[in-house]
Amino acid sequence: MKRSPFVFGVFVCVTTFGAAFARGQSAPVVTLTRLQCGTNAAPTDVGQRFSDTYAISGLTVQLTFSCYLIKHNDDYLIWDTGNPVGAAATAPKTTLVDLLGQLKLAPTQVKYVAISHYHGDHTGQAGQFPHATLLIGKGDWDVVTDPKSATIAAPLANWTTGGGKVEPVIGDKDVFGDGTVIMLNTPGHTPGHHSLLVRLKEMGNVLITGDLSHFHENYESGGVPTFNTDRAASVASIDRFKKLATNLKATVIIQHDDRDVGKLPAFPAAAK
Ligand SMILES: [Zn+2]
Repeated sequence: MKRSPFVFGVFVCVTTFGAAFARGQSAPVVTLTRLQCGTNAAPTDVGQRFSDTYAISGLTVQLTFSCYLIKHNDDYLIWDTGNPVGAAATAPKTTLVDLLGQLKLAPTQVKYVAISHYHGDHTGQAGQFPHATLLIGKGDWDVVTDPKSATIAAPLANWTTGGGKVEPVIGDKDVFGDGTVIMLNTPGHTPGHHSLLVRLKEMGNVLITGDLSHFHENYESGGVPTFNTDRAASVASIDRFKKLATNLKATVIIQHDDRDVGKLPAFPAAAK
């Protein structure tokens, strides 16, 4: 039988992963901390922009803006950087750098800034970590490096102008090479959109949506907002994500839905 390259690739990965632990390498220590990155002053009418089939009416949801710190042994990754600090009503009250300071971490200790997608409420504070390697979906990187995208690109100027290391991500990315933190290719909201899987020893598997869905009702019904770049890709990505959640028995965290805040310990505590 001729084995396809894809099947062979999976086979090699699985055996390498198993062999590493068989050789006695200790399992990595991974933790996940939620960081507050802004909030809406009041619940938002989500029927207006969040359903391209007019499926939702009369529903208001308290939307929030969340970022996440993942510790992997001595390395740190920040997932999304939220709204920028400033006078806007949705601006975070405390900067990411100050939140990390409360954890006795310096910005230079952050090895990776990984973003779900290029929208400004996810990239707002990326510039606080110029030393970090930027992990961004290749489809999104192509957009932010297009000269026509100056506004979208501004928060990532450190990287688009060559000031920092960047890794455009094609497909999924196993960030630390041991399967504990994986950027999942979930395009559609934007061309290079990613979600995140974190596999924790005590809490188990956690799936963080990015903007795959913005609130429970859209997630449950597979709804798509009006401001997506590819509807078919979004529907396929939501399908993949939900199957992952079922198969991995994962806790799903919808980043913008305030009702999901309590699924992780309150800052400064971390899920383990
Ligand atoms: Zn978005």
